[in-house]
Amino acid sequence: MRSVIVIGGGISGLAAAWQMRGMADVTVLESHTRVGGKLRTGTIAGVTVDEGAESLMALRPEAVELATAVGLGEALCDPATSPVTVWTHGALRALPAGHVMGVPTDPSALAGTGLLSPEGVARAAAEETLAAAPLTEDCPVGRYLAARFGQETVDRLVEPLLGGVYAGRADRLSLRAAMPRIAALAEQGAPLTPALRRLRAAGAPRPAAAVQGVAGGTGRFPQAVAEACGARILTGTTARTLSRIPGDRWRVQAMTGDGALTMEADAVVLALPAFAAAELLRPHSPLAEAELAAVPHASTAVITMAFSRTRAHFLPEGNGFLVPAVDGHTLKAASFLSNKWPWLQAAAPETFVLRASVGRIGEDDLLARPDRHLVRAAVSELHRAVGPMGEPLAARVTRWDRGLPQYEVGHRDRVARIREAAGKLPGLALCGAAYEGVGVAACVATGRAAGRQVLAGA
Ligand SMILES: Cc1cc2nc3c(=O)[nH]c(=O)nc-3n(C[C@H](O)[C@H](O)[C@H](O)COP(=O)(O)OP(=O)(O)OC[C@H]3O[C@@H](n4cnc5c(N)ncnc54)[C@H](O)[C@@H]3O)c2cc1C
Repeated sequence: MRSVIVIGGGISGLAAAWQMRGMADVTVLESHTRVGGKLRTGTIAGVTVDEGAESLMALRPEAVELATAVGLGEALCDPATSPVTVWTHGALRALPAGHVMGVPTDPSALAGTGLLSPEGVARAAAEETLAAAPLTEDCPVGRYLAARFGQETVDRLVEPLLGGVYAGRADRLSLRAAMPRIAALAEQGAPLTPALRRLRAAGAPRPAAAVQGVAGGTGRFPQAVAEACGARILTGTTARTLSRIPGDRWRVQAMTGDGALTMEADAVVLALPAFAAAELLRPHSPLAEAELAAVPHASTAVITMAFSRTRAHFLPEGNGFLVPAVDGHTLKAASFLSNKWPWLQAAAPETFVLRASVGRIGEDDLLARPDRHLVRAAVSELHRAVGPMGEPLAARVTRWDRGLPQYEVGHRDRVARIREAAGKLPGLALCGAAYEGVGVAACVATGRAAGRQVLAGA
């Protein structure tokens, strides 16, 4: 059996280990005291909640398939049905159904929502009448979509969704990497609105909900994969250096709570954020190191709050809301977990839990504020957005420093260069959120592909 060291025990590394189960002798090194990375549960006021990712994409199969395979099929659950809502122009306003990452397929349905001005709605509706030259090179999402639908559509519909997924800005994110479906249509050189409408009409049957949660918290998912994959899992173990040894093998030097640890293996999977993979690759591929180090990352913070259902002055309805950056608020989004996830309501009927998120790329000053300031700002803006809920029973700030890679213009070419450079290092595979998608499903896909690559001896 080949021996393999997987460095990084987030969902990508665990998916790689799972892919190799029974076919390789796998050890996973994870610097934290528990596996899971950005999938992590914690407790607030005695209630278990997710502190990182809270849902799995259901529109693509990889995450829900793996969750089912590791025994969580019964725990998968749909969120409550509720439209995507944007807090803008002083109120919560529902986005009409049928948008693709905020890009409207029926702009006339925006009339009367208050999301856009009448001129903004007319400008968006004019998209289908505008000539469209085929897109030939990558460009910022914001530039392309503003030229087609107008700046208001970008500011009030598209950017809030990009802020939610990437903590990114429309004027920097890559159309090809962050909105591949829209980019593929743009390359055909035809108006987007009718093309998106046709795609939706002809599309495969869609699952009831775009995302699914896991009863008890999405943080259960990596634990279940870790148990099912049969790998040796060393938590509290940080890989420090990676070196080649004779026989095309690899040596990993790591630090543990008990001191240094040296391990050797036939192959290594780097399932790490780009900046951490860059460090380990420095002696082996200056090109891969430079490209990985150049991937920008946004830091964010999740502010989880628990309210007493009996003592709160008011509790909001719906699943939460997104906030356009252009409105200048501190909050980026809020998710009303107790409304959204029926399992949470059943587990804690007396408590109402919500989480607010702050921090987009470039908002480091905001994130430098102490926890209590962030909690105060979140409570005050929630009161403005939904109504006077009163004070939370408990609040906790979870910081995700450099938590989300930014797929900026040229990202796909950068990833191709990284993969080409890494491909010259036999027995080394890369996976994780930095490459072909930040969502959990995309991470599972890269992890499993890395596992297959190693098993194939590449
Ligand atoms: C706040 C937040 C909310 C999100 N919400 C969603 C959501 O609802 N749905 C969704 O699909 N996606 C969501 N995402 C994105 C998604 O969760 C992540 O992109 C994904 O989980 C990343 O997985 P990963 O395994 O690639 O990386 P990580 O989870 O970052 O795992 C990498 C692991 O490597 C470890 N590590 C780092 N350096 C070393 C080293 N030298 N040695 C050993 N170990 C090391 C780290 O401790 C970490 O555990 C969210 C992300 C964030 C930050």
